Order: sequence, then C-alpha cells, then structure tokens
Amino acid sequence: MLLAVSCPGCGTPGRSLCEGCLERLRPAPVLPSPLGVDECLALLAYEGPARELVARLKYRNHRSGLGGLGAAMATLVTGPDGFDVLTWAPTTPARRRERGFDQAELLARAASRHLGLRVRRLLERPPGPAQTGRSLAERRDGPHFRARLAMPGWSVLVVDDVVTSGATASAAAGALRRAGAGRVTVLAAARTPRPGPPAPAYTAGVAYGSVVASRCQSQAKRPT
Ligand SMILES: [Zn+2]
Repeated sequence: MLLAVSCPGCGTPGRSLCEGCLERLRPAPVLPSPLGVDECLALLAYEGPARELVARLKYRNHRSGLGGLGAAMATLVTGPDGFDVLTWAPTTPARRRERGFDQAELLARAASRHLGLRVRRLLERPPGPAQTGRSLAERRDGPHFRARLAMPGWSVLVVDDVVTSGATASAAAGALRRAGAGRVTVLAAARTPRPGPPAPAYTAGVAYGSVVASRCQSQAKRPT
C-alpha cells in the first residue's frame, strides 16, 4: 500500500522536504558539549521546519523525514571506525508504550545504516517524567539512566533527537561512564540555538538539504 506523503517540515503534499523548508533549515549552533560528553554532534538548529520535522517524528510517527535525517546525521561522524557501538538515549517506558516506538532509537537505526556501526540497547530509563513539559530546573537534573551491561573502555556514540539543556546527554554519558565507557560522543538531529541573531541558512548542496531531499525521494518510492 502506498501511503500519502507530505513534507515532513510543514505538511505540504509532496515527496520530500519542500523548497521553502529546505531554505529555512539552519545548522546547529556551535556550543560547548554538555557536561561529561566528549563531543556533541548536532545537525540542525532546533527551530522552524527542523522543530516540526522532529515533532512529527516524535508525536505523530510521521516517518518520511527519518531516512534523510539519519543519513544526514551520519555525515557528521568522521571516522565511525573509532566507535565500538552505537546506542540511543531512551525515552521512558511509558512514552514508548504510548507511542509504540522510541524516536531516538529510530534515528539511531537510520544513522547506523550509513555508519556501518552495530546498534545496541545499552541504556534503560526507569519510569519517571519525560523531559518535555518539565521546568528548566527539573530538566537540569536530567533523567535517570542505567547501563544494561559493562562496557570497559568502549567508545560509544549515543543518538538523541534534540539536545536542549544538555541534561539528558549528560545523564546518558554519566551512566555509560559508570559502566566503563571511555569516550562518549552524542549525535543529535537538532540542538536548541541560543537566543540572538540567527545563523545563516544552509546553502544548496550543503549536508542536510541535499542528503535529506534525495533520501526522502528514494524512500517515498518504496511501498511501505
Ligand atoms: Zn515544507
């Protein structure tokens, strides 16, 4: 069955991100890595169509942007051979049950296809409130994660959808390090920009626009 396809940035009917959305995408801000994270790689500034792209994936299971996002995120990783494993920062079990999927896991699996890294579930998240809807102070404490196995000296690449305060990334890195991980790198679809004048938009041909457009098109042709 062929499903109706629409722009994952604005919902306009079409096979991929529309030109208007592509023009408005901006690269993630250059900010320090969250505490305990060796490197934080983020693709897009979390605003405008990028915000919508992530929200559609997260809340509406609108997956037409997924393949493109994963492919474009993978282009940020130089030397994937340097990592032992790819994992994700899981959402709460309640959210996962409610939505039927974990968006960070979907992104990790989409990126893994372009990185040649195996995906393993290394973290679990005991029940508790999700980050969305919590106050800034509560968010700063971060969620609680537990490592599921020992990972002595491993170099771990952790996928999350959005880095906002960095508390989730720090909490995930802390749990991985307590289990022995030697290096923790975060790979995110988007990162919240600092208030202020916006960064210049991507120009045609730069990572995300071209990669996501071609991936969305090739995915849309495939029956699902
Ligand atoms: Zn659009």
